[in-house]
Amino acid sequence: MASLFKGKRTSKMSSSDETLNKKPRETLFSSGSLGSVFPDPSMKESVTKKREDYLSWPDYFMAIAFLSAQRSKDPRTQVGACVVNSENKIVGTGYNGMPIGCSDDNLPWDRKAENELDTKYLYVCHAELNAILNKNSSDVKNCTIYVALFPCNECAKVIIQSGIRCVIYMSDKNHDSPESIASRRLLDMAGVIFQKFETKRRQIVIDFDAIEKSNSNNNLAETVHVNSGEKRSRETTI
Ligand SMILES: [Zn+2]
Repeated sequence: MASLFKGKRTSKMSSSDETLNKKPRETLFSSGSLGSVFPDPSMKESVTKKREDYLSWPDYFMAIAFLSAQRSKDPRTQVGACVVNSENKIVGTGYNGMPIGCSDDNLPWDRKAENELDTKYLYVCHAELNAILNKNSSDVKNCTIYVALFPCNECAKVIIQSGIRCVIYMSDKNHDSPESIASRRLLDMAGVIFQKFETKRRQIVIDFDAIEKSNSNNNLAETVHVNSGEKRSRETTI
């Protein structure tokens, strides 16, 4: 499964990297991003080690799907989805909800009613559909979609037609429903890989107070000591 999430960057130096290496050192260090690729040999090894318990890419993407689900107005089922490209960049997120411009106060949220027109099913857009339509790229070809719930047959159609090649799902609680059976049939025929999400984490907590608790020894900034005795601040992303 690891290969699915592997970014295109490898430790092997590309031809463009070799070209960069021939540039004067001053040029290299004018760009912060290149500094870590070609460290100054005069720099001492930092005493402070990087964090080890940071989120893996899969955990991060599935967490984004679950966070997106919190936007849903559905009182019973909240589902989120996150579309990721081959460079581990998020290109779309979505959650189940009524179509744009269709008031979620005036449409029904009921699962059962005497009249089918009074149930939510005829109106609601599923998370996968919204995530794909919300894309900020020209297309989602060869992307992976992370979803909280195994996609229904209607979403499987959209996934296939959009060119997504992999589905990572958390729950398959509707496994034996006709919608799930048809979905698997379609995904299989189209060659779309689907895998149950595996993780050691059972929950990820978002603590808005964490930023206040962090200090200079923690996440926000580290100080790298260099031989000349001066200090260079190195920011790390959150
Ligand atoms: Zn669906």
